[in-house]
Amino acid sequence: MNKLKCYLNGAIIPEETAQLGLNDLALLRGFGIFDYFVFERFQPRFLEDYLDRFYRSAKCLGLVSPIERENLKQGIHQLIAANEQPSGGIRLVLTGGYTPDGYAPTVGNLFVLQSPFPGPPPIQFERGARVATYQYQRELPEIKSLNYLIGIHLLPWLKEQEAEYILYHDGKYIRESDRSNFFLITEDDVLVTAKDKVLAGITRAKILALARKIGMKVEEREVSLAEWKEAKEAFLTSSTKGALPVSFIDGKAIGKGEPGTHTKALQAAFLALVAEEQEK
Ligand SMILES: *Cc1c(COP(=O)(O)O)cnc(C)c1O
Repeated sequence: MNKLKCYLNGAIIPEETAQLGLNDLALLRGFGIFDYFVFERFQPRFLEDYLDRFYRSAKCLGLVSPIERENLKQGIHQLIAANEQPSGGIRLVLTGGYTPDGYAPTVGNLFVLQSPFPGPPPIQFERGARVATYQYQRELPEIKSLNYLIGIHLLPWLKEQEAEYILYHDGKYIRESDRSNFFLITEDDVLVTAKDKVLAGITRAKILALARKIGMKVEEREVSLAEWKEAKEAFLTSSTKGALPVSFIDGKAIGKGEPGTHTKALQAAFLALVAEEQEK
């Protein structure tokens, strides 16, 4: 594997020489945001949607980007070209910046890292993913912040549950997974997903639009915890997963305990949309 370059505050440099000072609030307090998308044939997928969310997250948190959107966009294209890999993942990170007193934010540091495409293992698409529920509400859920304290802390717990992903709920309502949005399909074929207190996933929005287009009934609303037990199908969405079927929640089978037909249809529609995007 040849060594990758990264982008740091406007410059494209070898990743191994990139440096940030230790006094950055992202390191001292975990204060910062990021975003993540994939690219194929050197083309970022749904780039404008991700940039919208990235700058929206920054604004919500009160972060100051050292780089304007158009310049960042150019930098992303330059980075992908410089690394000479046709496909992969791109991570944008904006930190709280170097702090004078260990607490107050300043102008942030902005960097972009490229990595090989890290989709879920194919077996998860074949048999469906296993999910374990956990009571937790993400702080400032509309922001894609750097804080994954609970999700990462729970990795050993998740393994004990023989599950691959967490499903957060607040004791009453289902929210989302640690890095994905959650959908279920009711007995009477309605596609349901949480509307509030979740991250506005780009894949979530695409899937909702596709479902409406193919004539599915869609409800964005509070999803009660009891509902998954009655669901016919369930799936997770994220940039790296598309629509990943969920076959078991807390060890209980969803439907027949295998990927459902609506989920497969939505995943196919999503892949078709992605292919269409590439042709543009
Ligand atoms: C990134 C993320 C998602 C998925 O968003 P996409 O834009 O579809 O990748 C959902 N929930 C959380 C908490 C996330 O961090």
